[in-house]
Amino acid sequence: MATVKKYVIHCDKCTQDFPVFASLYHSIVPETWMKDKAANHDCKAYADQLAKERAPKALNPIKASKKGK
Ligand SMILES: [Zn+2]
Repeated sequence: MATVKKYVIHCDKCTQDFPVFASLYHSIVPETWMKDKAANHDCKAYADQLAKERAPKALNPIKASKKGK
């Protein structure tokens, strides 16, 4: 059974740290994987997500923080 871990990845493009939950196979090098994640970060979508989470009228922040799309 693979355990899901939380990785915090820094994106140089939007200078944000974003969490990614994943269970990596033994064959995957975390450093390489994290670089790849940072390189493929959807900065605009993440900015939109942050804006939603910070919106004062968010009815359910926990639900909003889940990746729905
Ligand atoms: Zn980014």
